[in-house]
Amino acid sequence: MSDNTPTSLYIDGAWVASSTGETRTITCPADGSTVGVVPEATAADTEKAIAAAKRAFESRVWVDVPAGQRGDFLLDVADAIRDRKDEFARAEALDTGKRLVEAEGDMDDIISCFRYYGKIADSNPGRLVDAADGSVISRVVYEPVGVCGMITPWNFPLLQASWKIAPALAAGNSFVIKPAELTPHTTILIIDVLDKLGLPAGVANLVLGAGYTVGAPLSLHPDVDLVSFTGGLVTGRKIAESAAPSVKKVALELGGKNPNVIFADADFDAALDNALNAGFTDSGLVCSAGTRLIIQEEIAEKFVDELTRLAGDIVMGGPFDEKSETGPLISKEHRDKVTDYVNRGIEAGARLRTGAHWGGEEHEQGYFYAPTVLDNCTADNPAVVEEGFGPVITVETFRTEEEAIEIANNTEYGLAGAVWTSDAGTANRVSRRLRHGTIWVNDYHPYLPQAEWGGFKMSGNGRELGPAGLNEYREAKHIYENTQPAVTGWFPRKN
Ligand code: NAD
Repeated sequence: MSDNTPTSLYIDGAWVASSTGETRTITCPADGSTVGVVPEATAADTEKAIAAAKRAFESRVWVDVPAGQRGDFLLDVADAIRDRKDEFARAEALDTGKRLVEAEGDMDDIISCFRYYGKIADSNPGRLVDAADGSVISRVVYEPVGVCGMITPWNFPLLQASWKIAPALAAGNSFVIKPAELTPHTTILIIDVLDKLGLPAGVANLVLGAGYTVGAPLSLHPDVDLVSFTGGLVTGRKIAESAAPSVKKVALELGGKNPNVIFADADFDAALDNALNAGFTDSGLVCSAGTRLIIQEEIAEKFVDELTRLAGDIVMGGPFDEKSETGPLISKEHRDKVTDYVNRGIEAGARLRTGAHWGGEEHEQGYFYAPTVLDNCTADNPAVVEEGFGPVITVETFRTEEEAIEIANNTEYGLAGAVWTSDAGTANRVSRRLRHGTIWVNDYHPYLPQAEWGGFKMSGNGRELGPAGLNEYREAKHIYENTQPAVTGWFPRKN
């Protein structure tokens, strides 16, 4: 971050300290170094931010800007991020510990997201409906939902924020955003961009701090019309519960336990390389990571031997270490959770093929966890069932297509998955029957801002990205206009 970038809360168009003056020190998980010190907001600060967002919404200062101009504004946001890409990527790499090259890739995706919503902001204002009556004009128009609360996680801090901010602004909403307490800096930077580009006061507000103090009011407060959350299942449930009394709209992007199904006729080398990518990119801290390798028996032994060897060769390191191929986990607490998760998997009968250690002496200052492969896994093994959220691949095997589908769907989650085969029929049948929101065929991880993203089952509700990602932030209103008002006589006059 440059020296003149503010590091505070942003409420009603002004950078402000926390009302208690409390702060939180942000450290880089790769080496424990201090990245910055930011204010720690209180529930009262969140209340102020919500009130500012409500005032801005009710003043119509942003809603009444023509949708095309709101779109132009988002294109300017995309350009501003591009111009400051190095600063943004460095800030993301420092907060998360991820490799700079990965953070740079995230910034490209963020720019694409703002461009996409910039371009479609005025593309679908509504539609005419045939009322079967020549004197009636019946139309459906789209209007912003109102005040949006946004709560985001630490693994892709600004990417997840941009999937919410871009469509919310395109639709004309006001918002209050709370990034994960461990990774606030790029969300501060995007607010700086919105401020410098002249977004009217109160339309965007930023609060920083812990989930239970600063995040919870966003889901509870009756003046918040929609809460959009990306994070873990347990938190998602709490948010849905606290949103229920005010019946606000709730959009949840939760975890995944994503199957990577490999048939014996797949391109072996491509499937192998992508299985590594699926499970270990970004230290496995990806909601859609291919953590469940489901492989046909004929090729399983050779494939897992190779996977084990290649996983063991992956070099761990800090964000700016050019030799590094993967980074650390986000915190000591998170590493403890992953360690416990793997240990429980092994106790339940999984065989450790590689990994399950914290790296050598050179990694002592950070929260590293080596890429891990567990085979001989049964369906009820906790490592197969739970979202460990770390660089861990479990291996299950199948004989028939039907068995592969059953194993792949045997999870309470439904975020993403892949099928690898050289047979078009198998690819089509299996991809249609997998109960997950994104399916890759002979690939893993790519996504497009134009295509909807979200979960079946306990991976969440609602969709981000694509046209549906814009509609999350809009209400449909039917206007039925009778151009020739007439007496109906339904209740005949008695006198
Ligand atoms: P988390 O649920 O612990 O925290 C996410 C956010 O919620 C943070 O900002 C946190 O402060 C806040 N929070 C915590 N308790 C809260 C409460 N009671 N009320 C309101 N807010 C609260 O998740 P995490 O550990 O930061 O992120 C990892 C999880 O996110 C994984 O499960 C991962 O799969 C999921 N994720 C999903 C997607 C997706 O697109 N589906 C994308 C990224 C991450």
